[in-house]
Amino acid sequence: MKRQARESDGSGDMIKGIKGVKDLLPEETPQWRLIEETARRWALVYGFHEIRVPIFEVTALFARSIGASTDIVEKEMYTFQDRDGTSLTLRPEGTAGTVRAYIEHNRAADPLPQKYFYSGPMFRHERPQAGRLRQFHQFGVESFGTADPRADVEVIALLWRILSDLKLPALTLEINNLGDAADRDVYRPRLVAYLKQQEDKLCGNCRRRIDANPLRVLDCKVPECRAATDDAPRLADGLSDKARAHFGSVLAGLDALKIPYSLNHRLVRGLDYYGLTTFEVTSTSLGAQNAVGAGGRYDGLVETLGGPVTPAVGFAVGLERMAMMLPETVSVNESVTVYVAGFGDRGSAAGFSVLEELRVAGICAVTDFRPGSLKSHLRQADRLRSRFALIVGDDEAVKGLAILRNMDTKVQHEVSLTALSSQVSSLLRIS
Ligand code: ATP
Ligand code: MG
Repeated sequence: MKRQARESDGSGDMIKGIKGVKDLLPEETPQWRLIEETARRWALVYGFHEIRVPIFEVTALFARSIGASTDIVEKEMYTFQDRDGTSLTLRPEGTAGTVRAYIEHNRAADPLPQKYFYSGPMFRHERPQAGRLRQFHQFGVESFGTADPRADVEVIALLWRILSDLKLPALTLEINNLGDAADRDVYRPRLVAYLKQQEDKLCGNCRRRIDANPLRVLDCKVPECRAATDDAPRLADGLSDKARAHFGSVLAGLDALKIPYSLNHRLVRGLDYYGLTTFEVTSTSLGAQNAVGAGGRYDGLVETLGGPVTPAVGFAVGLERMAMMLPETVSVNESVTVYVAGFGDRGSAAGFSVLEELRVAGICAVTDFRPGSLKSHLRQADRLRSRFALIVGDDEAVKGLAILRNMDTKVQHEVSLTALSSQVSSLLRIS
């Protein structure tokens, strides 16, 4: 149900939410819970454990991990000064904080591998549009301590499982090999030389990126930039045998698990820490912001942030985009089970106790405390799409009874107030 947002009445005293920062109203949260619970359930099945890291960190953490010349660090971070002058930043992604926590708590001293997952809000100052917000939510995983390509396959399989279980439509897994750091060091000047020749055909952003972050130009969505880079030298053509072998094993692993993929030599990702395997899941059902989730291997990051050399691989998915794609057919049933219709002095007093008794028994029960007739209570029960109404007027209360009415069939049963929750429970089971 779409509701018209309320406009200010002109008196200027209505405070609104921030642009690109959305409320999730009760109509939407059941779907969100389904997404979060599905992700969490599969992560646990795959042997990942939940970590909760802070929403803000010192700015240097993100600058050093994500990379100073990335879009995120250059122009998208919410950075502010703490009272003592320390520069702090609202987290734009979850990997940096997870790695920081991993190092700070000396987790590397415990047996490896260690596999973590997280879920929560992220913040980037981007132009708000469908599927792109300033506060958005990600679910992500990080697997530390395994260089084996099967660890890459494991996180991709988990991502694929979550998205498939939610029946998200028209998904494609794109994958690429970014090689190791030495491969990229050899490749970068070749690419830069090529991009300099094409400079006048590139968008302003990409012209800036030629020196700062040349690989990122390959990922640009502007059609002119794509055309201008069609014949660019390819990283894949100059990779070490080791990087090739790793990627070959990842693809073989995906084949073995019957996870379909397509190779995309342009896929480079916006963050600096990725190497070797990099992947993204897109959907044609999403429109312009078509990426659902993405990830890759980041074997150098733990060391960059001051920890021991630790191979690692992970992904993050956007919950807003998953929610946009969730089929309408996935309905989440949150209807009320019992509406307690207590009326009259004694009836409403009895109803008040009964309400609590049903809740203690784990039955979803509601009422309306405003005084009303039986008729108005039944209208409320209908409005709330309650399956049953439990009617307690003064007469019933005096007799120690209540009437359980099936709101659909209108069939009614008498129940005793002294054995209420057990009698109601068994009636609910058979109707
Ligand atoms: P995009 O291609 O949309 O710019 P990205 O490469 O910046 O994505 P990542 O940093 O890899 O995205 O984040 C992983 C996922 O988080 C994305 O695939 C997307 O689903 C989601 N995401 C990223 N930025 C936003 C945003 N501003 N609003 C909503 N979701 C986002
Ligand atoms: Mg982005």
